[in-house]
Amino acid sequence: MANVYDAKVAIVGAGSAGISIAARLLRKNRQLHGQVLLIDPSDKHYYQSLWTLVGGGAAKVEDSVREQASLIPEGAKWLKEAVYTFSPENNTLETKEGSTVRYDYLVVAAGIEIYWDQIKGLKETIGKNGVCSNYSYDYVQSTWENIRNFRGGTAIFTQPSTPVKCGGAPQKIMYLADDYFRQSGVREHTNIIFASGLPNIFAVKRYADTLEQVIQRKNIETKYRVELVEIDGDTKKATFEHLFFDEQLAHMSYLVGCQRTGEAIVIDPGRNIDWYIDTAKKEGLQIVAATETHIHADFVSGAKELVKRCGAKLYLSDEGDENWKYEYLDEVDHELVKEGSVFTVGNVEFQVLHTPGHTPEHVSFILTDKGGGATKPMGIFTGDFVFVGDVGRPDLLEKAAGVSGTADVGARQMFESLKKFKALPDYLQV
Ligand SMILES: Cc1cc2nc3c(=O)[nH]c(=O)nc-3n(C[C@H](O)[C@H](O)[C@H](O)COP(=O)(O)OP(=O)(O)OC[C@H]3O[C@@H](n4cnc5c(N)ncnc54)[C@H](O)[C@@H]3O)c2cc1C
Repeated sequence: MANVYDAKVAIVGAGSAGISIAARLLRKNRQLHGQVLLIDPSDKHYYQSLWTLVGGGAAKVEDSVREQASLIPEGAKWLKEAVYTFSPENNTLETKEGSTVRYDYLVVAAGIEIYWDQIKGLKETIGKNGVCSNYSYDYVQSTWENIRNFRGGTAIFTQPSTPVKCGGAPQKIMYLADDYFRQSGVREHTNIIFASGLPNIFAVKRYADTLEQVIQRKNIETKYRVELVEIDGDTKKATFEHLFFDEQLAHMSYLVGCQRTGEAIVIDPGRNIDWYIDTAKKEGLQIVAATETHIHADFVSGAKELVKRCGAKLYLSDEGDENWKYEYLDEVDHELVKEGSVFTVGNVEFQVLHTPGHTPEHVSFILTDKGGGATKPMGIFTGDFVFVGDVGRPDLLEKAAGVSGTADVGARQMFESLKKFKALPDYLQV
């Protein structure tokens, strides 16, 4: 029922974080009794850390779940509704059920939602065909089933480059599985692979150094900067994409190859081009082209170097006014592209979309894999125009480079570009 509630402290989410914050506040300050409101629609509370042991066969899944009501700390109230909108300027929030909560302080602890469908084929096969996950109450038991029934072969443990519920969980279950495979006598004919979207085994060097020794001791094969993009449950095939991600610069670049002709293009190359050349070689590709979504101000581009070392042709934006033109065109083999231009690398087609906002000459590339027989596009390279869950900053030129008046123009251009983007099909991978 739609109501209005008042709370000194409103806490969104009564998971491990929400419950422990409420308990600590109440323990510290008795005056808060009756003033702390936990808002969560779930009847159940899951102690997710236990799922490592459930997947490893050392704990029961039922032991990880409790009635939410039994865990609400004394002195806190529980509103069993889902938060829908925040109005921070009014110190209020609204729930899906229509209630309003007025608060002095707000804590948001709504956890992480898992989108299984972000990996092609995963939703259809999770919990079956040897595919399992420790990140969910529904599937964690299938991990133990798989480990227990494994008779040898290839066991892949993946970790995505995105935030996850527990950064250590993929390794923990891998070590438990390794141990069980040794006990059950299948380890000798098992290849364990740790395939991670991250650049190393762990972000903190001190731990990474020790974990590298563990990996070696256990004879585990590692693959870094690879992202799982597709699973075919029937044929038990997992497809990974190489990630070219420079963490310090927060810079992503891409190598796209045509399997038929062996030709490849680098999109938004960074200064160190050995990365692309080595990977292309391993994949049996030759870099014949490079392109940029926009003129980069935050890192040195490797485009010219790719021309020099690989003989690559550059596809560069001809959008924007005279202040936004490439200056080295005389020195390189190039083709200028604009809204609607189409170019191909092998049988892979790129259609150019002008997407100003972050910078005036910014373009995006819509990819159609004609070599694979596709007639519809499968993805779009958006550079600093659109990110997952965010859009590029239109104010950088003004704020960082002091070009006055550009933030307002950039924001308006960004809005128009987004309208164009919204008209593209939902299934496009960004
Ligand atoms: C396999 C595994 C192993 C792990 N191992 C460890 C470990 O060893 N050590 C460790 O420290 N951590 C570990 N973790 C991580 C730890 O479990 C999580 O960090 C922790 O559970 C997160 O708690 P949370 O409260 O932020 O989120 P959650 O526990 O996910 O709770 C979020 C709550 O928010 C609610 N909610 C969601 N949307 C809304 C909304 N719109 N309105 C209101 N409420 C909402 C949900 O119903 C839920 O109750 C592990 C996790 C996993 C999956």
